[in-house]
Amino acid sequence: MTPRDDLYRGLMLLLAAIALIVLALALAGCGAEASSAPAPSSSSSSSSADNHGYGWQYDAMSAHGLKLRDARQAAGVRRLTALEADLLERRAATVATCAGELELAPPPFVVLLDPGELAARVGKPGWYYPNPPLIALEDLGDLFDHEALHYVLDRRGDLDAGHTSPLWASCSFAL
Ligand SMILES: [Zn+2]
Repeated sequence: MTPRDDLYRGLMLLLAAIALIVLALALAGCGAEASSAPAPSSSSSSSSADNHGYGWQYDAMSAHGLKLRDARQAAGVRRLTALEADLLERRAATVATCAGELELAPPPFVVLLDPGELAARVGKPGWYYPNPPLIALEDLGDLFDHEALHYVLDRRGDLDAGHTSPLWASCSFAL
């Protein structure tokens, strides 16, 4: 055992620890689940009719049709514009490209909620609702890319609620 061996072993242990942390975070999940995910309203209307209870109104639309609804009630927040919708569309397209899709069509519907609002409903700050595809978020940070990957995978037939696809490691940070 030389000091160099110790250093190597220490590095390997550090890498293993990092991998475990990333895996644990991935398993913690962001909230994408099957269609049984609780809807925001207790209304009995079908989820496809009312967009999982969030409705179809939107405040901004991207160049290729990503609809963005700013449902925040908090006073004083800067309202979202087509600029944000375009940026999200590009980010979703980047995730789709990484996952091997040639294009992202049609783009998902995105709703932005007040901090804590979504967490109170589904226990997470981000949620992907399938059929119809809806990305609900409490902020437009990295969480969006994670939900966008659920969307891409959902279009292939399995939104991967368990985060088992290798694409989580290569196309989106793991939550
Ligand atoms: Zn997830």
